[in-house]
Amino acid sequence: MDTLAEVARVVSACTDCQLHAGRTNAVPGEGPDAAELLFIGEGPGFHEDRQGRPFVGPAGNFLEDLLQSIGMTRDQVYIANMVKCRPPENRDPSPSEIAACSKYLDRQIELLDPLLIVTLGRFSTARFIPGQSISRVRGRLRRVNGRHIFPIMHPAAGLRRQEMRAAIEEDFAKIPGLLDVLRIQSEPASEGPQVRETGASFEPTPSQQSRSLWDVIAPTEPESSGSETEAPAPAELDEPNDPPPGQQRLF
Ligand code: SF4
Repeated sequence: MDTLAEVARVVSACTDCQLHAGRTNAVPGEGPDAAELLFIGEGPGFHEDRQGRPFVGPAGNFLEDLLQSIGMTRDQVYIANMVKCRPPENRDPSPSEIAACSKYLDRQIELLDPLLIVTLGRFSTARFIPGQSISRVRGRLRRVNGRHIFPIMHPAAGLRRQEMRAAIEEDFAKIPGLLDVLRIQSEPASEGPQVRETGASFEPTPSQQSRSLWDVIAPTEPESSGSETEAPAPAELDEPNDPPPGQQRLF
């Protein structure tokens, strides 16, 4: 599989797990070959299965609204899923199904080589940051095996609960700044802000003149809503645990 189009062709004929039996269409993913930004969701739902495209139902509409809020369109980003065929009744994909399908996502990531990977929800986040809840790690950039990972809650969660919607919007607003800094960082001769390769946390150096990752992604204090039950759960605002070997928390 040397191109994204070839990955899509192979996926469309794949029978490597039981999910192939119930699909109308496989949903390989879509977007430009040179996309800087890769979104990874969980798996196709009813609308995605019918159309063979990712995020085209209500959650997809919300994702498009979120992209519009940061001045982007879905034509500019690559959108993929952990599993490429719809689980029956929209159940969670099983570990064996995720394992069987991971080769396609692995290859998509290799071919795209995106600046930033935004994981949408717990399944795709667990692929890079296993063993931690999405509510603890969301909205915080990590470097995992050389990839920059930015977990966000799944847009479908934002359709169900208003406080989740606010958290998703808050995290999404950080994406343009992250891309700005990562673009600078990816330029070999850049003297711009650098992400330290060692150490547990990111601290901007005094010489940094432009926006640093810290400016972009520093967590905000929760505003008082007057209702404790409507405020984000404290766990969502806690510092996550130290990342395991192979991962680097950048702030
Ligand atoms: S979910 Fe993935 S591994 Fe399973 S049949 Fe579809 S493409 Fe193949």
